[in-house]
Amino acid sequence: MPFCPKCRIEYQEGITHCPDCGAELVAELPPEEESRLSPSETELVELCRLSDPNQGDVLKATLEEAGIAALVRTKGPISGELARVVDGITDDEAIIYVTRNRLEEAKEVLRAVESAPVVWPEGMTPVEDEREGEDDLEE
Ligand SMILES: [Zn+2]
Repeated sequence: MPFCPKCRIEYQEGITHCPDCGAELVAELPPEEESRLSPSETELVELCRLSDPNQGDVLKATLEEAGIAALVRTKGPISGELARVVDGITDDEAIIYVTRNRLEEAKEVLRAVESAPVVWPEGMTPVEDEREGEDDLEE
């Protein structure tokens, strides 16, 4: 019996192409690949570093829109409130990680992002004056 390798559906003899996706049917299904993740699919590699953690979140969202899982790690143990108190610790850094098998695709996305004007996803508009937190200090 022929199978569609993409939809993993069995079809009647005589059908050569999948009616759903148009793929050429095969006699036997290839082994399920999704269930066994190879190391390259789980190993995280550094894609880039950004000086602004907010950019990290935006890039992560952009990557995920392209179907690439991404992880953002912000460097610097001191952030937010304390960073304002301890002088000099304001250079937060965001490190973007992707899985090794998607690194090249992620680089493509990164290049596209870098060459295009930044479009901030809804709800992620950069806050220009960061008054938050300062109110507390004034009390
Ligand atoms: Zn199909």
